[in-house]
Amino acid sequence: MADHYDLLVLGGGSGGIATARRAAAHGARVALVERGLLGGTCVNIGCVPKKVMWHAAEFAQHAAHAHHYGFDSVPREHDWTRLVDNRETYIRRLNGIYDRNLDKSGVTYIAGEGRFVDTHTVVVDGRQLSAEHVLIATGGKPRWPEIPGAALGTDSDGFFTWRERPQRVAIVGSGYIACELAGVLNALGSRVTLLLRKDHVLADFDAMLGETLIERMREAGIEIQMQRRTVELTETDDGIQAVFDDGDTAGGFDELIWAIGREPAADTLGLEKIGLELNADGTVPADDWQDTPVEGIHALGDVTGRVELTPVAIAAGRRLADRLFGGMPERRLDYHNIPSVVFTHPPIGTVGLTEAEARREYGDAAVRIYTSHYVALYHGVLEDKTPSDMKLVCVGEDEKVVGAHVIGDGADEMTQGFAVAVKMGATKRDFDDTVAIHPTSAEEFVTMT
Ligand SMILES: Cc1cc2nc3c(=O)[nH]c(=O)nc-3n(C[C@H](O)[C@H](O)[C@H](O)COP(=O)(O)OP(=O)(O)OC[C@H]3O[C@@H](n4cnc5c(N)ncnc54)[C@H](O)[C@@H]3O)c2cc1C
Repeated sequence: MADHYDLLVLGGGSGGIATARRAAAHGARVALVERGLLGGTCVNIGCVPKKVMWHAAEFAQHAAHAHHYGFDSVPREHDWTRLVDNRETYIRRLNGIYDRNLDKSGVTYIAGEGRFVDTHTVVVDGRQLSAEHVLIATGGKPRWPEIPGAALGTDSDGFFTWRERPQRVAIVGSGYIACELAGVLNALGSRVTLLLRKDHVLADFDAMLGETLIERMREAGIEIQMQRRTVELTETDDGIQAVFDDGDTAGGFDELIWAIGREPAADTLGLEKIGLELNADGTVPADDWQDTPVEGIHALGDVTGRVELTPVAIAAGRRLADRLFGGMPERRLDYHNIPSVVFTHPPIGTVGLTEAEARREYGDAAVRIYTSHYVALYHGVLEDKTPSDMKLVCVGEDEKVVGAHVIGDGADEMTQGFAVAVKMGATKRDFDDTVAIHPTSAEEFVTMT
């Protein structure tokens, strides 16, 4: 006989854990199944270890500037292994906290891989579990190209297993993960080559951000090769070599990272047993309520391919639990104006529409753009005068701010607050009427003319 629950959650990552705990807080009987480490991608091989590495890279940059701030002896050598050890110790602590929090919330944690038997039944290592509602929150995995020699490369998961820093690294990809890893490795001393299929990075972001980032990465010493469609990897005496579709090659790499996107992890769930058909791109179909076409089966987070960010999976999950078990029938996530940060060097913050999206949606005549190009005070005493750039996208007579974008020092911490303003429908006048905080970079957002 199967153990019976109100909610069975498949996947103990950001979305799964948030949903399970909120549902349990509403009094639901909940079990959560996780086949790997609790915390999922974000905690183990995503946001958290990435941000630790970003901090190390920031530290290296500050060390390079320290002389101008009066410091004579500044650490030059970097011990990658020590950093990785400290990072992993921190993550193991987080795994334990997640475990204890599930326990405290009254969620039954079942280690293993879940697979559907029928709409209400899942099997985990031979044990049958049944539930009124099943949530698919199984996340995603790095995409790999199907080309000869691809296995000579690795992916972002592999990057986080490195015990030593390779000297010469190629990164294939133009998304945020490719750019972030390029920045970390470059700042910590590797020679980095970024291989782009086309001629831009961060295609989904405001064009100003990607264009400026390419300039900044090049100034920092990252080699960027454009129009490079990799069709094969080969092993040479001098390391890994990438062969391109025009017959050209680039080589001499100790490591090559595939950062060409992510795909949903839905292939082992046995969805055919419940008649749930995947979308053409392999994502699990879910509507605005996180309901799939099969009654009682819900899905959220990366497996649905919808705004693949941790806080999005968490927010969608908590609202789903509120709706199913908290007596709040109207609760669902509004997917508009979701802010995000790219942890490059310098970092990028963005919320709302890009300029191109605003022009498409409202027409050129209705759109007014404000920009600021400035050198943050931090650089005042440095020879390095790297500038920062901001853009406000406003629409209509009242100049409602529908997009705010920034690349520069402090972008990572300033964007959250401005996201509140954009979400609330603030106008340019509201920004202007807000007294600046001086001296900061954020003040540029409220002083643009
Ligand atoms: C390198 C990198 C950096 C990132 N940086 C950021 C960032 O800075 N900010 C941000 O917001 N987001 C970031 N993300 C994205 C973020 O990690 C994801 O959006 C988030 O983890 C999605 O949560 P999820 O719950 O949908 O899936 P996951 O967190 O991926 O959790 C899914 C879990 O399901 C488990 N699972 C899969 N199949 C089964 C099964 N059949 N049975 C049981 N368990 C199963 C998996 O083991 C996994 O633990 C990053 C991602 C990567 C790869």
